[in-house]
Amino acid sequence: MSIVAPYWFLYLSAFRDAGVVTPANHAHYMSQYPYDFAIFHPGHVCRTCNILKPPRSKHCAVCNRCVAKMDHHCVFINNCVGYGNQAYFILLLLSTAILTSYGAYLGLGLISANVRTRHPNWHLWKPSSFTWHDYLILLTFGIQDDVGMGSVTMLALLTTPLVWSLLSYHFYLIYCGTTTNESMKWQDWKAEMDDGFAFKRPIDPRTRQRNPKHEPSWTRWPVESVQALVRTEDGTPPSITSGPGTGEWERVWHLRDVENLYDLGFCDNLVDVFVPGHSFRGEVSTDLERGRRTTKHRDAAGLGRVVDAAT
Ligand SMILES: [Zn+2]
Ligand SMILES: [Zn+2]
Repeated sequence: MSIVAPYWFLYLSAFRDAGVVTPANHAHYMSQYPYDFAIFHPGHVCRTCNILKPPRSKHCAVCNRCVAKMDHHCVFINNCVGYGNQAYFILLLLSTAILTSYGAYLGLGLISANVRTRHPNWHLWKPSSFTWHDYLILLTFGIQDDVGMGSVTMLALLTTPLVWSLLSYHFYLIYCGTTTNESMKWQDWKAEMDDGFAFKRPIDPRTRQRNPKHEPSWTRWPVESVQALVRTEDGTPPSITSGPGTGEWERVWHLRDVENLYDLGFCDNLVDVFVPGHSFRGEVSTDLERGRRTTKHRDAAGLGRVVDAAT
């Protein structure tokens, strides 16, 4: 099972549709998430695919296509990681991490047994009776005695932390309700905020005018953006009549002062990854609650950390 699972998930990650946006499924992907008016704005057209970019989508320059909830293009699976295969990608990382850990554990056990045939007192956890010199000499002997097994063990030992780190990073992104692509966009926003060039003001989703050509009338997401974020070239606030939202523009200095619309909390974020198409709309009782984050309020404090982790 631990040997078959990584191959199976590798196959699914590589050959399943990552979420390629086509004219046929465009309306479907437009209804998955609302625009957050911070990193995704309505009305943007992909110049290559010539389609309106659905919220959270990105054009992959390698595959030359737009992918829904694009995370990144992964060279290991020769495919994008997106809405369609993100769950398989996480399961690939998890199963590979378990396999390499188990392989390293078995290999070290065999090497240990090998060394003990010569020196019964030797142990993988260095016994105090051995000097570091003797301990390492015998360990090297155990690895070299069966080069094939020794090298595979070393490979498993060295790759295991990398795979667990990548898996942890992806779980952290899920915890923050973001993607690799979005964390880079937030990183850009952080630079603008550090310079004092970023401004926000409220949006009321109940009274906001929508352009039906640019935005779907319905999404399965339970909340809508209650803030608009803009940047200016010289750090002066935008005019009150320009940009989305109403009221005064307020300068934003920190990521924690803006909201990440796509973070519903760790459990719901997991559901969003592992149950594609799940409608979260049942979780709010009336349409009026949309956009009024009360129980579901999440600030972007996590985003600051994810940006720090990425840099
Ligand atoms: Zn495109
Ligand atoms: Zn790609």
